[in-house]
Amino acid sequence: MIKGRCECGSVQYEVDGGINDFSHCHCSQCRRLHGAAFASFGGVVRNEFSYLSGEPDLTRYASSDDHIRVFCRICGSNILVELDLEPEALYLAMGHARALTIVTATLLALWFLTGLPN
Ligand SMILES: [Zn+2]
Ligand SMILES: [Zn+2]
Repeated sequence: MIKGRCECGSVQYEVDGGINDFSHCHCSQCRRLHGAAFASFGGVVRNEFSYLSGEPDLTRYASSDDHIRVFCRICGSNILVELDLEPEALYLAMGHARALTIVTATLLALWFLTGLPN
């Protein structure tokens, strides 16, 4: 079980499952969007993910043709990324996940796998 929330606390979610892969993406979009040297993502099964609160406060930004970034419109926290090419998965921005136990970074960054700008 993974639980997380945005900075203001409006958006809360849980995942009734585990993280399938973990990566630190250093692409230019993630650097700008997260205001950091890289963004950390955990891939989960979409059917195991559910919002507990705050769905009306979500907003979406298409950073490319097949990448939708989901944010809290109140505090600006990055919540997750949806990829058209992987409709069964979601990529959680791991900075706000609680109860995170053991994660192992994958060898290849997300931008390498998906062709995001680097
Ligand atoms: Zn928020
Ligand atoms: Zn990226």
